Amino acid sequence: VLLSLAHESGARPLVVLTKADLAADPAALARQLAAVAPGVPVLPVSAELGLGLDPLRAEVAPGRTLGLLGPSGAGKSSLVNALVGAVMMPTQAIRRVDGKGRHTTTWRALVPIPGGGAVIDTPGVRAVGLLDGAAGLDRAFADIAGLAEGCRYADCGHDGEPACAVREALHTGELSTRRWESWRRLQGEVAHESRRREARVAAERRGGWRSARRRAARPPTPGGY
Ligand code: GDP
Ligand code: ZN
Repeated sequence: VLLSLAHESGARPLVVLTKADLAADPAALARQLAAVAPGVPVLPVSAELGLGLDPLRAEVAPGRTLGLLGPSGAGKSSLVNALVGAVMMPTQAIRRVDGKGRHTTTWRALVPIPGGGAVIDTPGVRAVGLLDGAAGLDRAFADIAGLAEGCRYADCGHDGEPACAVREALHTGELSTRRWESWRRLQGEVAHESRRREARVAAERRGGWRSARRRAARPPTPGGY
């Protein structure tokens, strides 16, 4: 979802593997991530140990802005502080002490990075929402979108329809089960989000329907509907 959002915004997506100090083999993890997000750089960092920060700083050249997307607790605030070299963001450890709860990133701030560029810490993913996620999903899963063009039906759900190129690619192993499953999960989230949006629009319209009914109760105008 986050990658498709990043694609959609026109930003250049980048995966930052935070808390790399907690992994036994961060390089192997980074390789696994790179395999599911082809063409997207994966950078392991440790805010705690100050490792991997220079390659990330190099990506945020002067004039560029790094926007951080990720759930609360992912280590975004710590990363901002490490990049900037000063405590700019309250992190969870600090907040836990003052007893204000665990969810630290509830506000946005643009912070300049010494040496060039800037970083924005964003609130939770839910606040960002999935804006027209379908287009972003197709971009993040260009391989599946490409395969789907070979399906017999343009609206193929790849769910047992005849002559489905996606199922065929799964069968031959051209498409990995893992990638297929993450597409399915994200596609479900995007569909869920657009149903919610439609429900909201329908609820807003209900007021309009009431006045439409009142109009309909009036005697019909000759020749009108
Ligand atoms: P945010 O909600 O995404 O801003 O996350 P925080 O920056 O507040 O970090 C959440 C927790 O992860 C805190 O307890 C941090 O101390 C811890 N943390 C952040 N970065 C690192 C890191 O590089 N290594 C380790 N071991 N822990 C980290
Ligand atoms: Zn299909």
